[in-house]
Amino acid sequence: MSTTASEALFARAKQVSPGGVNSPVRAFRAVGGTPRFMASGAGAWLTDADGNRFVDLVGSWGPMLLGHAHPEVIEAVTAAAARGTSFGTPAEPEVLLAEEIVDRTPVERVRMVSSGTEATMSAIRLARGFTGRDKIVKFSGCYHGHVDALLAEAGSGVVTLGIPGTPGVPAHVTADTIVLPFNDPAAVDVAFAEYGDQIACVITEAAAGNMGVVPPAPGFNAHLARTCAAHGALFISDEVMTGFRAARRGHWDLDGAVEGWQPDLMTFGKVMGGGFPAAAFGGRADVMDLLAPIGPVYQAGTLSGNPVATTAGLTTLRLATPEVYERLAATSTQVQALVTGALTEAGVQHVVQTAGTMFSVFWGVTEPVTDFAGAQAQDTGAYTAFFHAMLDAGVYLPPSAYESWFVSAAHDPEVDSAPLSRLAEALPVAA
Ligand code: PLP
Repeated sequence: MSTTASEALFARAKQVSPGGVNSPVRAFRAVGGTPRFMASGAGAWLTDADGNRFVDLVGSWGPMLLGHAHPEVIEAVTAAAARGTSFGTPAEPEVLLAEEIVDRTPVERVRMVSSGTEATMSAIRLARGFTGRDKIVKFSGCYHGHVDALLAEAGSGVVTLGIPGTPGVPAHVTADTIVLPFNDPAAVDVAFAEYGDQIACVITEAAAGNMGVVPPAPGFNAHLARTCAAHGALFISDEVMTGFRAARRGHWDLDGAVEGWQPDLMTFGKVMGGGFPAAAFGGRADVMDLLAPIGPVYQAGTLSGNPVATTAGLTTLRLATPEVYERLAATSTQVQALVTGALTEAGVQHVVQTAGTMFSVFWGVTEPVTDFAGAQAQDTGAYTAFFHAMLDAGVYLPPSAYESWFVSAAHDPEVDSAPLSRLAEALPVAA
């Protein structure tokens, strides 16, 4: 497989961008080698600058629910762009997208932003403004974007690159961040017993996807919601990754809707932007209405609710019917079966974990992974060997063992069986 064009582009990129990338994990630092510079995508497939084709199991880190360049999404965004790419005024597509989100989730009001980071940063500011308190609780291994106060014991690129925190965040900014183990209700009780009247909010990934997929134990999110309510704190469920991905109405539909609790605030991104920079936070009307221009909590954005981005998101969500999620679930199960069958045959210890249609593989472990310590106990070296074998075989996987794998509605294991079956062919390398 030729990588000449990717190598040349990477060399040029490194001259003008730190590490040659605009987001760290894209640089292949954990797995080594040259990142592939992608030139185009169609359905389940990506084509790189050298013309190599890959079945894509990354999906731009989650957004591409329908696959790449879905014809109806492209048609809608092309028409939207022709009408004007940004007005700096309210416009209809953002209203329609907000209505769709309100319709599908427990939130009553939505504010659009441009990235998941902005969504969680703004939700935390709002929670602090609403409660008049400073402390926030997060869980180790959860990643909520590169928000200063949330870059403590974070997952995703932070753990992939082995960064404990980051220079540039003053100690006083994280002094009010309480980091607790994921899936540990007793630790939550201890923190609230000590600081209950100072805690503004608890933020958690609805199901963790940034330390690999670690679902919440049954009742864990319910415990967080109840504990927050009992202490006058707000419960923020971060569904940037899981929203409209784990299930049609988000991960909340898998636990909150069943167990009878609601988050006070939620954050969304990825799928709701349909491959464009669109994200949002939303929640209880009495909390959200504290935002400017009604209330004093300031939050703004030149491109927030951008008409092209919100059209992409709206079109994606409208096309994401219950049948699409059934298909995603079936495809996800098929790919998991393919991987786990072949791994078992090759004698590689592993655990596959799921959250709705999201899944990931933990390498070299025998017990289910329930927290960050468990996730970090995996054998990332085995994953690296597998990753490269798969890349050479034409399957594009996340360049880190700490990430979720994503299928799209365009994946068809029956039709794409040749490259997907290479999952199995590549496995002996990891053994
Ligand atoms: N929250 C979660 C759960 C995420 O997975 C991510 C990104 O991966 C973010 C927030 C940050 O989103 P963005 O990368 O759009 O800033």
